[in-house]
Amino acid sequence: MSSSTEIQISQSAIRNNIGFLKEVLGDKVKISSVIKANAYGHGIEIFAKEVENNGINHFAVFSYLEAIRARKVLSDSSDIMIKGWIDNEDLEDAIIQGFEFYVFDLEKLKCAIKLSAKLNMKAKIHIEVETGLNRTGLNAKEFNKTIKLIQANEGALVIKGICSHLAGPESIANHVRVKKQINTFKSRIRKLTNNSIFPEYKHIACSAGAFSYPEARFNMVRIGIMQYGYWSSKETYLRFIHNKKNIVDPLKRVICWKTKIMSIKKVKTGDFISYGTTYLAQDDMKIGIIPIGYSNGYSRSLSNNGRVLINGVRCGIIGLVNMNMIIANLTNLDDAKIGDEVIIVGTQNDLSISVDSFSEISQQVNYEILSRIPLDIHRKLVE
Ligand SMILES: *Cc1c(COP(=O)(O)O)cnc(C)c1O
Repeated sequence: MSSSTEIQISQSAIRNNIGFLKEVLGDKVKISSVIKANAYGHGIEIFAKEVENNGINHFAVFSYLEAIRARKVLSDSSDIMIKGWIDNEDLEDAIIQGFEFYVFDLEKLKCAIKLSAKLNMKAKIHIEVETGLNRTGLNAKEFNKTIKLIQANEGALVIKGICSHLAGPESIANHVRVKKQINTFKSRIRKLTNNSIFPEYKHIACSAGAFSYPEARFNMVRIGIMQYGYWSSKETYLRFIHNKKNIVDPLKRVICWKTKIMSIKKVKTGDFISYGTTYLAQDDMKIGIIPIGYSNGYSRSLSNNGRVLINGVRCGIIGLVNMNMIIANLTNLDDAKIGDEVIIVGTQNDLSISVDSFSEISQQVNYEILSRIPLDIHRKLVE
């Protein structure tokens, strides 16, 4: 490894997770694999290809640029759906490339209809309706206008789907709101079909929606975090396992992020370690310098808080997280030497550091830590 850290992506973990998701969701519910934010930090290209090898052929991204990246590695028979940002100047190419895209405002829809006539190609749209999240999505009035526009321009469009997004199904605190959203969604679907518009897919659920609200699955779910081996929240996990006999987490973590010890030194009792005075050595100590810092996605909130694995032992991070370095306490690791493997996220012997444990310390959720792992760290596929 020539960069300071390496990321391994486990093929067997992906196989396991996709297998589990397919088993639970059954063959009547299509899985759209959500690979936005560089596949939650795992690397769009490497991750999407592996998921496709496990029989998934629908992918969801946030932006046109992500769609282009996915297109380069996926087979032509896989579909790519853009849930968010397409610049007007990219819309034409999005249609040419055959990308599916969300329509959440009338201007975009009119623009797509015009382009479709110009290109003599149909635009593949998912009608995104507002059901209570109050983010993107057509409100009731815009939805009615959309129906008229679709009816007047049948030749221009393929109605791939109708969709919406739930406002926090990973927490019971949002139960009433989520239930209401599902009902609103159902009534929007009825309205479409009453107007003889029959979308191929109906989708409102993310991972937590699909697992905690089975009635929200319809015939497609958009699964992000669970493919990567994490539950959306502890609550979602507990809901799933609470009546199971065999309490083992069916998901496996896909990512392992590692580096090496770059330097080791002894520090005397009473000395401060790293910048400032946040860490005072209370005994003679041995410390290891590790070449990763906040510029590499290792959050500053892990200062004096984070943990890494070295020689099968959990070691605490001491002092402040620097831009490119952190310092680990090796005092009780007699055999640690320069070049030894350091696990930042992942497993060594029987121990593991997951982003969950990170998140508890740093008050960041899995999603945030994963998606902030920098693009330029090499991702390597391992069995
Ligand atoms: C990110 C996202 C998802 C996936 O959510 P997970 O909780 O990771 O499964 C689904 N739908 C939309 C609209 C999203 O933005």
